[in-house]
Amino acid sequence: MQRITILGATGSIGVSTLDVIARHPERYAVHALSAHSRVEELAAQCRQFRPARAVVGTQDAADRLAALLRAMGLVTQVEWGEAALCDIASAPEVDGVMAAIVGAAGLAPTLAAARAGKKVMLANKEALVMSGQLFMDAVQESGATLLPIDSEHNAIFQCLPKGYGRVPDAAGVTKILLTASGGPFLKRAVESLERVTPDEACKHPKWVMGRKISVDSATMMNKGLEVIEAHWLFGAPAERIEVVIHPQSVIHSMVSYNDGSVLAELGNPDMRTPIAHALAYPERIASGVAQLDLTAIGTLQFEKPDFARFPCLALAFDALRAGGTAPALLNAANEVAVQAFLDERIGFRQIDRVIATVMDRLPHGAATSIEAVMAQDGLARRAADDVIARLDRPLLA
Ligand code: NDP
Ligand code: MG
Repeated sequence: MQRITILGATGSIGVSTLDVIARHPERYAVHALSAHSRVEELAAQCRQFRPARAVVGTQDAADRLAALLRAMGLVTQVEWGEAALCDIASAPEVDGVMAAIVGAAGLAPTLAAARAGKKVMLANKEALVMSGQLFMDAVQESGATLLPIDSEHNAIFQCLPKGYGRVPDAAGVTKILLTASGGPFLKRAVESLERVTPDEACKHPKWVMGRKISVDSATMMNKGLEVIEAHWLFGAPAERIEVVIHPQSVIHSMVSYNDGSVLAELGNPDMRTPIAHALAYPERIASGVAQLDLTAIGTLQFEKPDFARFPCLALAFDALRAGGTAPALLNAANEVAVQAFLDERIGFRQIDRVIATVMDRLPHGAATSIEAVMAQDGLARRAADDVIARLDRPLLA
């Protein structure tokens, strides 16, 4: 029986994780669940999965959750704040941690799980983008098992030679081919992108996801963050990571070898597949996802990404090449800009302009410690707020 903590249980990845866990009560027990503010959803999950502990974002949310759980007759211990998140991620009774908080808020608890040597199932790509080498060092030092949940990285992990977590020359790996659906605006006239609404940007053609990553998919910053994520997870330099647009999202990524072979992982676009893979690794369990019917799909298409249409993708490659804290600056500016877009304070095409301005304005430094990274994160957030406040006339829909 593996005891699992789910950070971000009420989100899209959290709900899919609980769906897979519910199918295998003989293998998994839920030790702890976390949410930020959606306490009713978290209370319902506590009723079904009976965790020992539940963590929320504020004292007020904790009081409301505790009242709901009392009324249900549950004895789940309710806590709040970052220290409690780090504690449920690193407690001795925990075997595996699903890191599925969105954004930089997930860094501290995800790192706590890595330092404690847990099986870390990593959905929260922002944490790795920000902390890169520091995070990988923590995994190495503690002997934690790091398993990618992001569908592309999970596919790459499955296509790499067994026993290699990284891209080694000796194994004949020449390239990582990171597939991208292209999001909802792949074919839309570029001029019209100025005026798209948050709801249009969040309507992804293939995946159902939280709003932040949905906007990242529409700008293709998501793919940019994934390039950086692949760099750290698999030790691949930028020039050996190639982005390939594949609108059907059936191939989740590929690895090419020096003998001409290209290995791919295929499946229906449903996050329960990588989640089940990581939960059971190195075994396999049922995920609830329907078997792929290739003849029903018929055609798989591929094209090169258009960096002019998706400037965020170029910004991410630039940040990876710059190194140091540049990816942390990129990530922070992106989080602020995406939130401003979702709040209808800026237009869609102003997201990349805000990020580019912040990257130009702030010099990046060496990522010597988590404190240094967090300081840069704070600087970039303030700079992004400042850029947004000075924008002439936000171009809204
Ligand atoms: P959601 O927005 O659906 O869920 C986010 C979760 O994090 C919720 O449980 C939310 O709580 C919690 N949360 C939000 N803000 C905070 C905070 N400040 N402190 C603590 N907890 C917080 O996101 P997704 O599930 O879509 O994505 C989660 C992560 O997984 C992201 O990093 C994303 O990039 C990554 N990912 C997601 C994929 C997907 O298919 N959804 C695919 C690949 C990666 P509450 O509900 O209370 O707000
Ligand atoms: Mg992905």
